[in-house]
Amino acid sequence: MTLVTRFAPSPTGELHLGSAYSARIAWRRAREEGGTFLVRIEDIDIRRCRREYETAMLADLQWLGLAWDGEVRRQSDHFADYGRVLDQLDARGLVYPCFCTRADIAASASAPHPVAMGPDGPLYPGTCRHLSGEERRRRLSAGIEHCMRFHAERAAEQAGPYSFFDEGLGRIDGQPLLMGDFVIARKDTPTSYHLSVTVDDHLQDVTLVTRGIDLLPSTHVHALLQKLLGYAAPQYAHHPLLTDASGRRFAKRDRDLTIRSLRESGRTPDEVFEMIDGWSCALPAKA
Ligand code: GLU
Repeated sequence: MTLVTRFAPSPTGELHLGSAYSARIAWRRAREEGGTFLVRIEDIDIRRCRREYETAMLADLQWLGLAWDGEVRRQSDHFADYGRVLDQLDARGLVYPCFCTRADIAASASAPHPVAMGPDGPLYPGTCRHLSGEERRRRLSAGIEHCMRFHAERAAEQAGPYSFFDEGLGRIDGQPLLMGDFVIARKDTPTSYHLSVTVDDHLQDVTLVTRGIDLLPSTHVHALLQKLLGYAAPQYAHHPLLTDASGRRFAKRDRDLTIRSLRESGRTPDEVFEMIDGWSCALPAKA
């Protein structure tokens, strides 16, 4: 089986040292092992993503010498693919409409009864999961804004035990309830990060997902979706996040450390990689 890796940035800012580090990991693995390196633009958040950032990111990757294979897939061109999979999950009773506003959710999180915590904060308390079919239909036909949520408990029952493999961490047992009933299709966009990533990694035959360790909780959910949908499971290599001397991770707001600004200040690609190597040698060897 040929190795297929991918770099999947969201075009919400310019490429910075941390994302160039991540891109090079995926690129290098593919080049070392005669595989394929894909670039995918994850732009489902239509309010935050900009086409000019996408163009700039691709130009920066090219300048760095991280050439990709084939065409770049842009998620916003493929909403129909995600919609079809959402319908499959719906037909199995694995998603439900949620009419809660942010304020409703915040109020239930501050209610006296305990709320389960997830990796990103309090988990959704499941309010709309308990609506009657009739009430659900009434709200839908009244056109009340809603997102779709994943029915994690039912999914756990349907999927049974599952696991995924990380090159550094070994085999990890899946925790289907880790992210609770997460949003699987947003109010403004007919998909979510979790759904699109799982569908795309499958459609693009990705065999090795290299990405930051901050996304490890998400992998529990992606592996669950893969099992439910009968997709081949890629392997994972979660890498540490590149940080500066004070331990702060590089972010798109660090204007002086974007690839664009380094390039404009006269640095060469080799010098940029030297900077990355300098920061990354302080990182733990394993995620
Ligand atoms: N689009 C995500 C990000 O920019 C990366 C997703 C992934 O690699 O799975 O953080």
